[in-house]
Amino acid sequence: MFMRYFARFYSAMAGPRPVVLSGPSGAGKSTLLRKLLKEYSGVFGFSVSHTTRNPRPGEENGKDYHYVTREAMHAAIDKGDFIENAEFSGNLYGTSKAAVQDVKDRNLICILDIDMQGVRNIKSTDLNPIYISIQPPSLDVLENRLRNRKTESEESLQKRLLAAKMDMEFSKEAGVFDVIIVNDNLEDAYGQLRDALLEEINQVKKVNMSS
Ligand code: ADP
Ligand code: 5GP
Repeated sequence: MFMRYFARFYSAMAGPRPVVLSGPSGAGKSTLLRKLLKEYSGVFGFSVSHTTRNPRPGEENGKDYHYVTREAMHAAIDKGDFIENAEFSGNLYGTSKAAVQDVKDRNLICILDIDMQGVRNIKSTDLNPIYISIQPPSLDVLENRLRNRKTESEESLQKRLLAAKMDMEFSKEAGVFDVIIVNDNLEDAYGQLRDALLEEINQVKKVNMSS
């Protein structure tokens, strides 16, 4: 009885569990994330990663990513500023300790949008997130979506498709993801995402209302 009470108390003190969204580039992670952040602005906060890739039209420094040079990124990694980092499609990406702390300080559920190397690396930390994989209905649909997005060169597109094949296999490995969502119809996929997080959402709403 006491242990159960203590566990609940401790988990409330530690704050809500973060959420990892992963899955192939083009599967719809950013689209789903944007919807979630819009509907639950006082509940979720985005962990703003660092990257060495160039901003896409419409992306904002400090909001979508912190855009940095390779030199700056390597220096920060060497200093121990990152929880995890990876090379994806020829660019460096990483989650800084500060990015996650910033969201925790605001008492929000921290959402990380990271690739499968990031998932593997986060598994060896004490972050203890809920792992959600967003998958496309097929590789052909994914290719169409990436082409229609018009953000990638042919070279970058091919690298992303290659990584996507590996990601689609990785997502099937037992015990890696708590939830796998196939993003075919956007509203259906969003509904599944919201349902998967409803318990955490209600917990944060309750805590934030009483404080
Ligand atoms: P990711 O963040 O995983 O790389 P995006 O969210 O950028 O993927 O989505 C890739 C492209 O597919 C975008 O142009 C987006 O508008 C589109 N898209 C996302 N979900 C759907 C869907 N369910 N049906 C059709 N198009 C979609
Ligand atoms: P994009 O260039 O399309 O924004 O992102 C490419 C890939 O990098 C996506 O799979 C995305 O999830 C991943 N990514 C974005 N930020 C990070 C990060 O901080 N760490 C890791 N490991 N991957 C990231």
